[in-house]
Amino acid sequence: MKCEMIRDLLPLYIDGLTSEESNREIEKHLKNCRGCQKYYQEMTGEIGEDISISEEEIQELQVIKKIKKKNKRKMFGVLTGIVLALAVCVMVLFTQWYSSANSEEVTVDYGVRGNVAYCAIETKPGYSMEINGSSSHLKILRLRKTMSPKGQTISWEEKIGTEENPCKWTIEFQDKIMVIENGQLTKEKEK
Ligand SMILES: [Zn+2]
Repeated sequence: MKCEMIRDLLPLYIDGLTSEESNREIEKHLKNCRGCQKYYQEMTGEIGEDISISEEEIQELQVIKKIKKKNKRKMFGVLTGIVLALAVCVMVLFTQWYSSANSEEVTVDYGVRGNVAYCAIETKPGYSMEINGSSSHLKILRLRKTMSPKGQTISWEEKIGTEENPCKWTIEFQDKIMVIENGQLTKEKEK
């Protein structure tokens, strides 16, 4: 068939109104004629895969698809790895930078100088304290690692009171509570 005739038949062919014999002729022609192929594609607005793409090209496409899929899976694996590594880093940093405020991790010094009671809490070098409250009830919340090679000391003093009305300090750690009255440890309770 001539191109002109094919092109005349294409609208009918697209609507499925042509006979089977005509269909065979048209498809055969389309397979071999680039011009009519283009014309057909323009009419349908799509690329007729079975007509314009050869077996070889389909195989090529499938290979590309497979590679893409493989790459996708690889990327997913790499991303998952990165996320996991980051999570571990954050956890390690967190436990390194914040340690629980157990009483063994600080030094508590207390006593009496003349008629004044004193108390000093000192961290290990490279740590500072996060505290809450005041000397009457001081809570050591946690220890934080610092860039400084020095530790942190919190100290205070107060005139000692009478036996009935002593100057009384409560220091609360994560593991225990200490009560100091007039510069003497009067109570030490595990939490
Ligand atoms: Zn043609």
